[in-house]
Amino acid sequence: MTDKILKNIVILTGAGISAESGIPVFRSESGLWEHERIEDVCVPEALQRNPQKVHAFYNKMRRSLADKKPNDAHLAVAKLQHEWPHVSGGSVTLVTQNIDDLHEKAGSVEVIHMHGALLSARCEFCGASWCQNKDTSPGQPCPKCGKIGGVRPDIVFFEEMPHDMELIERALAKCDLFLAVGTSGVVYPAAGFCRFAKNVGATCLEFNLDKSAVASDFDSGFYGKASETLPKFVDALLSGNKVTSLF
Ligand code: NAD
Repeated sequence: MTDKILKNIVILTGAGISAESGIPVFRSESGLWEHERIEDVCVPEALQRNPQKVHAFYNKMRRSLADKKPNDAHLAVAKLQHEWPHVSGGSVTLVTQNIDDLHEKAGSVEVIHMHGALLSARCEFCGASWCQNKDTSPGQPCPKCGKIGGVRPDIVFFEEMPHDMELIERALAKCDLFLAVGTSGVVYPAAGFCRFAKNVGATCLEFNLDKSAVASDFDSGFYGKASETLPKFVDALLSGNKVTSLF
């Protein structure tokens, strides 16, 4: 592989980047997320069937963010976002599947939360969304349209369309380097981003504890804790090393 000039980078992060900050990952053999069945808290029918339970689940998770701190992997992503444009004249687009706020706490300014965010709520009636630091409840009126019964956590459930797909596809279409960090590669459409990036000629690298289910789609991978592998990679990239010399 020849080294091309790198300008535009897209980083996709998943639950694994936040695992070392004490937020459990999603996949488990039991099919449970935080002791709940996925179909009880993560699908649109759950919200209709038992809105109290769904609101309570995300309220608990939102409250649990208060004492969570970003780790060195989140800090490395923020550093790359701030410094790469000065080094290369290019851009770094950060797309996260995570609903936590650890990228923002690490100093990342523009974060695309494709699966929504715990610190946001939205109204199913008028489509408005807003910052939400406190608990939500099914009976609370929408602050924009005033209707009751449509307020929900701003979380993208299974079968729902992720946020900002056009923005993400535009960034992927012009990316030279695609990095996937701490993601299992089984949740679509995010799992297809690597192939999209490959088709436009990008170099694709994954950072995971072990090879993911889609490891063969990538040019190479860095295996181990993201808090250890990613800062080293970012520092080498910012020092002007050619990307192919890094794997
Ligand atoms: P996932 O749970 O399916 O997979 C996590 C991946 O991270 C695994 O491949 C695992 O090997 C890897 N990993 C674990 N610890 C790591 C570490 N220290 N360094 C590097 N890699 C590590 O996560 P996913 O692919 O993001 O998909 C799950 C869905 O669940 C996402 O859509 C996300 O919205 C949601 N989720 C979010 C959070 C969060 O906001 N922090 C937490 C759990 C689930």
